[in-house]
Amino acid sequence: MRVVSVHSDALVVTSRLWQTNAVALRSGGEAMLVDSPYFPDELGALPALLADSGFEPAALLATHADFDHLLGRLAFPSLSLGVGQTTLERLHRDPGEAQRELRDHDAEHYVTRDGPLALGQLQGLPVPGKLGLGEEVELELHPAEGHTSDGMAVFASHCGVLCVGDYLSGVEIPWISTGGSVDEYQATLARLAPLVERVDVVVPGHGSPHARDVALRILDEDVDYLDALERSGDAAPLPTGRDTKAQRSIHEGNVAAL
Ligand SMILES: [Zn+2]
Repeated sequence: MRVVSVHSDALVVTSRLWQTNAVALRSGGEAMLVDSPYFPDELGALPALLADSGFEPAALLATHADFDHLLGRLAFPSLSLGVGQTTLERLHRDPGEAQRELRDHDAEHYVTRDGPLALGQLQGLPVPGKLGLGEEVELELHPAEGHTSDGMAVFASHCGVLCVGDYLSGVEIPWISTGGSVDEYQATLARLAPLVERVDVVVPGHGSPHARDVALRILDEDVDYLDALERSGDAAPLPTGRDTKAQRSIHEGNVAAL
């Protein structure tokens, strides 16, 4: 697990699996945790790590309902989990999906846990909308669908950080997963572009946090990839640096989803 301070009020914790990022945001003595790492030892270390660095969270947020972003409650079972309305709808539509996916991936990686995932108290948040953090700061919540049918980006203007969920990754190509679509993905990229212009750091769901100019370059590459995917299907070239066997298999899934 890698821990990087990207601002005095923003700490990024990166899991050993898929470089999944959890982001602790803080203002006025209050902190929230966006998304989660995967492994039990990482989740077990999180409460002390965040408390020791002054980021003990008062609430959890998840950018979308894919199971690898929902594990915060394994580390903080008493905290409520805030999700966008589309994510709440998806969780209600298929209440066992996250638990099933977690079980399957745990089995694949030979991971055992003390207990099952209980999502507990879920709080649906209006998106677009605002969410208070401490006395003086409001986080902006922006819709981010296309990877799946749900999603939100969390914009923390007080520290110049944008948490986008599964977009703008330097290690993963645009992934049209179940419920997602190329059109909605492109609309999300168009919506994210002006937000990226306003921040110093973009934290994707997977991979290193980026400076603004790097995030804008990835955004351009992702727009080009999706254009080529719609035009040429399987023949679309993968973005430079992300043309690996694992990303090829995501690409094949994207072609099938067209
Ligand atoms: Zn993910």
